[in-house]
Amino acid sequence: MKSTHTIYLGLGTNTGNREENLTSAIVLLSQMSGSYISKSAFVETEPWGFDSSNKFLNCAVALETDIPPLVLLDMTESIERKLGRTVKSANGVYHDRIIDIDILLYGNMVINSERLTIPHPLMHKRDFVLFPLCEIAAEVKHPVLNKTIFELATALKESNEDSQNIL
Ligand code: ADP
Ligand code: MG
Repeated sequence: MKSTHTIYLGLGTNTGNREENLTSAIVLLSQMSGSYISKSAFVETEPWGFDSSNKFLNCAVALETDIPPLVLLDMTESIERKLGRTVKSANGVYHDRIIDIDILLYGNMVINSERLTIPHPLMHKRDFVLFPLCEIAAEVKHPVLNKTIFELATALKESNEDSQNIL
């Protein structure tokens, strides 16, 4: 038997029936990976990095699987397309999206390739990623920053509060 890894994904949607989009993505992830899944609650968040009047619904999901990272990326992208996503982000330009599935952590693996950066490079700066992830992975360590998700979420919350006090 191949060794399995615990993988954490971040899901987001801000168009259409958002609950249905997240639920459909989770069902497809479960079917295609053949893996047990735990998931966080769905949380509503403001768009990050671009202006839109459509708020997001986000959640975090855990898979236990031996699917290699790039095969997993193919799988998440095919699920995005199946649910109707046509536009991908490029050079930090973001758009409304029916579904986004990001690979946040893949066990303790660190990957820096053209198609894939793991841990996800912006995960520790995004409350819409860290807060749901904290619900299912509080004690999991970020393999590069060497801090737990709980520590990263607390640090981000404090820095957000500080910046609000300045304004
Ligand atoms: P974003 O999630 O930032 O809005 P996209 O979902 O459109 O952007 O993805 C843009 C590109 O990010 C993809 O083509 C993919 O190859 C790349 N990418 C790099 N690392 C990851 C990762 N950890 N998870 C998902 N996509 C990633
Ligand atoms: Mg993405």
